Amino acid sequence: MLRFEFLEARNLRHAIALTDQHGDDARIVAGTTDFLVRWRQGVWTPKYVINIGNVAALKRSSFSARSGLRLGSLVTIRELETNPVIRQRYPALAAAASAFAGVQIRNLATVGGNICNASPAGDTLPALLAFDAQCRIAGPGGERIVPLDQFFSGPGRTVLERGEILVEVVLPPPPKVSGSLYIKHSPRAAMDIATLGVASYVALKDRGRVCADVKIVLGAVAPTPIRAYAAEDLLRGQTITPELLVKVAQATQECASPIDDLRGSAAHRKDLAGVLTHRTLEQAIAMAKTGPISFEAQRRLAVESAVMEAAV
Ligand SMILES: Cc1cc2nc3c(=O)[nH]c(=O)nc-3n(C[C@H](O)[C@H](O)[C@H](O)COP(=O)(O)OP(=O)(O)OC[C@H]3O[C@@H](n4cnc5c(N)ncnc54)[C@H](O)[C@@H]3O)c2cc1C
Repeated sequence: MLRFEFLEARNLRHAIALTDQHGDDARIVAGTTDFLVRWRQGVWTPKYVINIGNVAALKRSSFSARSGLRLGSLVTIRELETNPVIRQRYPALAAAASAFAGVQIRNLATVGGNICNASPAGDTLPALLAFDAQCRIAGPGGERIVPLDQFFSGPGRTVLERGEILVEVVLPPPPKVSGSLYIKHSPRAAMDIATLGVASYVALKDRGRVCADVKIVLGAVAPTPIRAYAAEDLLRGQTITPELLVKVAQATQECASPIDDLRGSAAHRKDLAGVLTHRTLEQAIAMAKTGPISFEAQRRLAVESAVMEAAV
């Protein structure tokens, strides 16, 4: 048995002090769902485990039409899935949460843990990036804000420095005429890591004919989740046509640089990137025009598996 000393952080200041004091000998835990797997595998062998799970300041979440959504790092994936405001205003994020593991894991796993674990296949990351999330980080030197698209430095690596803790993520309020969706493709319909995840966000203008803004984010096709900037540029400011959406999906495919692994070949992932981008864009545009679809309908669209395809 790999032994460690368990340290309970009483508040944020105490958590920072403990993390700073023990540096690389310590590992913070929140929901522990990633930690326990890595610890049992002998991949993470900290001398000290610092539990931040009871720090009240990290549990808060709020929404205002002016400043948007604030999610404390300890907000659970289950909360993201069930919160009515998130379902209505940030549907891609609620869809990503509903496609995440099983309900027992969703009850424990936190949004901060998903971000700080920095897996390229982390399910909440494409949706958070599609909504321009900003990270509020606190450390021994004070606070700083880092846009989420600058937070990851590689698979499992982030820009967090010694003693720093992710406090919250802040998502600006999406405009009224906008829609979004996340679709996860994986070998199994539940309890599986994404072979590919795509989140698209679209805002419309001119009575829904023109794309005012768009974000397309891919997970599991590169060392970190990536924005398909070149594809977005083809759509932003343009009149939306079926032909243009096909071109945008093709351009998104070109942004992906996946690898072969047990969940799928690089070629399969590239194909999926085009297909799922097209699907998420169509749905996001439809939602922007007619309002959010029911959560059940979103959930059905959000999880797609090889098993389900084989059964059709
Ligand atoms: C059976 C199973 C199924 C899973 N399925 C999925 C899935 O479908 N999709 C998916 O994306 N993930 C999945 N995961 C992975 C995991 O559940 C998520 O990454 C989860 O969000 C991690 O959150 P946590 O609170 O449990 O993190 P923890 O395990 O507590 O911590 C994870 C990492 O983040 C760091 N950390 C946590 N919080 C902070 C903070 N506030 N500041 C700084 N560092 C911090 C920790 O030090 C650690 O390195 C699965 C895991 C298991 C065991």
